[in-house]
Amino acid sequence: MKMAGFYDESISNGLGWRAVLFVSGCPHNCPGCHNKEAQNFNYGQEFNKEEIINRICENSILKGVTLSGGEPLCKENIPEVLDFIKSIKEVRPNFNIWCYSGYTLEELMDRNDEITNETLANIDVLVDGRFREDLKNPTLKFKGSENQRILDVPKCIHEHKIVQVAV
Ligand code: SF4
Repeated sequence: MKMAGFYDESISNGLGWRAVLFVSGCPHNCPGCHNKEAQNFNYGQEFNKEEIINRICENSILKGVTLSGGEPLCKENIPEVLDFIKSIKEVRPNFNIWCYSGYTLEELMDRNDEITNETLANIDVLVDGRFREDLKNPTLKFKGSENQRILDVPKCIHEHKIVQVAV
């Protein structure tokens, strides 16, 4: 997997201070995509999990990690994304994990495959849905267009309904 970028700390990609990994590659090709170069699976540099984990562990201000892109949950990226999340949880069990995805939660659950289900079980908050230029709203917090949702994934799964996070 290639990564399009990494922020050691950010407060604009989820609640609290967070490290942010932007993976490369996205199949959605949304009109008006804010990160078009990251649609290319060969864009950026090789993802080095150990180096990124070390950088995260060196930073005591962090409360969690955000996965963004690109598309973290496409079939090409999801194996390494899941492995990365599990490694973070080993060294920082209290971290919360946010993930941006162009897929909706329903689309991901409909896959009903082992790796997607395990990944969802390890994500706290999913910002879901493709970017819609016609619904773009720059005043929205942590998302780009009105259709996108900020979902409490454990509650959505256990309560079998859509539960959004208040931000
Ligand atoms: S899902 Fe995100 S990265 Fe992918 S094309 Fe849409 S806006 Fe761009």
